[in-house]
Amino acid sequence: MADCIFCAIAGHDIPTEAVYEDDKIICFHDLEPQAPVHVLVIPKKHISSLDAVTEEDRELMGYIMFKIHELAADLGLENGYRVVINNGEDAFQTVKHLHFHILGKRKLTWPPG
Ligand code: AMP
Ligand code: ZN
Repeated sequence: MADCIFCAIAGHDIPTEAVYEDDKIICFHDLEPQAPVHVLVIPKKHISSLDAVTEEDRELMGYIMFKIHELAADLGLENGYRVVINNGEDAFQTVKHLHFHILGKRKLTWPPG
């Protein structure tokens, strides 16, 4: 999708050091980390938000969740971590390409801000 920064990252139009990449997803460090480990996992397919997920994406969504726990292990997050999807205006979704935040290596408070 034109003018989508995460599509540009997924397509290597913006050079990004990937933490992990395969044909379906790419994982990279967040530009403004909110924890010692803060990575983003995105589908390479442009999906604007969680609300935009369709039946067609069912397998991809399951794949992402499965990969997230593998990545968490690779990132040394055996003490715990949080996975966040900000969806829509009230959640301050700023990038309109579905992304999963993985945050870890610090105590994460609850409720979130
Ligand atoms: P959200 O508020 O859930 O939409 O989060 C978007 C996240 O993307 C924020 O944490 C940003 O710091 C991060 N971000 C935006 N642009 C980039 C980029 N080019 N590379 C890495 N992270 C980015
Ligand atoms: Zn996109």
